[in-house]
Amino acid sequence: MSRIRARFWDPAGVKHAIPTYPWRLAPAHLLTRRQLTAAGLRPGGQGVQAQIMWASRRHGAPGVRVAYLYDVRFALPKRTATPAQLVALDKANAARRTCPVCGRDAGYVLPRHLGTCLDCADAGEVAA
Ligand SMILES: [Zn+2]
Repeated sequence: MSRIRARFWDPAGVKHAIPTYPWRLAPAHLLTRRQLTAAGLRPGGQGVQAQIMWASRRHGAPGVRVAYLYDVRFALPKRTATPAQLVALDKANAARRTCPVCGRDAGYVLPRHLGTCLDCADAGEVAA
């Protein structure tokens, strides 16, 4: 292992307070939040379990970079909306599409500055 990598090799968290691994050397059960999401999971209340540290040579942002890791064994499935929540969402969206003047579902969310559907807004302008 190179010296650079050894700098970030700290599985017991002696140097860095939490278990720390160099790039690519973290155990397979530790995933970033993004990796959890890709697997349909969320951290599920657990705190950060470990971190990956690496020296970035990216132009303009050199320095030590950190990615936080979560234990996949404590992860929970991503929340999906319940049927009741979907119904409530549908209702709320329908309300945002319904014109208070003509009472029709315009088929789009009413522009806030008009407060009516475009037809009623046009008619109002002609009448005015
Ligand atoms: Zn209308």
